[in-house]
Amino acid sequence: MIHQLRDLVMSQEYVTWMHQKFSWSEGTFRDIAWSAFYKAMDKFQGHQNSIRKYIHGWLPVAEVVKCYNEHEITKCPCCNGRERQDHVLQCPSQKLTQKQEERFDELWQKLEKTTDPILLEAMKKHIKRWIQNPQYMAMARGSALQSVVLAQNRIGWTNFLHRHIFSQFIKNQQDLYTQQGKNTPDLLAFEWGVHFIKSIWGIADEIWTLRCQQLHVPEELADPVEHCKTFARL
Ligand SMILES: [Zn+2]
Repeated sequence: MIHQLRDLVMSQEYVTWMHQKFSWSEGTFRDIAWSAFYKAMDKFQGHQNSIRKYIHGWLPVAEVVKCYNEHEITKCPCCNGRERQDHVLQCPSQKLTQKQEERFDELWQKLEKTTDPILLEAMKKHIKRWIQNPQYMAMARGSALQSVVLAQNRIGWTNFLHRHIFSQFIKNQQDLYTQQGKNTPDLLAFEWGVHFIKSIWGIADEIWTLRCQQLHVPEELADPVEHCKTFARL
């Protein structure tokens, strides 16, 4: 399945679709870290079917399923808000935000050992702001990473969290590893990019699974006491 997805992503139809969907120039398209994206797809260990849908914006969120069945849910099962594709990592419900914060904290701790501190702070800051605002565009003025941030603005921060990172993120890491005198800095930086993309997908996968559990087994039914109360009322 994942190889079929890679074939799809590498096809001319996908390229055309992406150009039309995001109005990207050829230059912006070339700026994306495609190789890291493909490798991350090959190596991703979680629910590959869900992540395939997450990457492409095909998850069966409320806004999608209600188009096919008017009796289906029309709101997010966790916060009762509007649920579009972006909502997975932007749901404000306590249950999902708590889990998400835990997972991002773990990711930042792991990356601290290997990541350019300026780059890491920029990633933390912009991801946090994107979570609070789906239309987020980063202000880069005065930033040490101005060109990187502006390039990711062109690609989009939703894309950053769903599928595509700017290749310069990986190049920055390569420069760091070169300064540190590491062997094969290009390979290490590439693996850093693959790890980052897979980690974001891992977080999204876990959050989507929690959200689906809430849809099929609401919290009050998962709690044995509440479960009994509910059935006593029926
Ligand atoms: Zn929600």
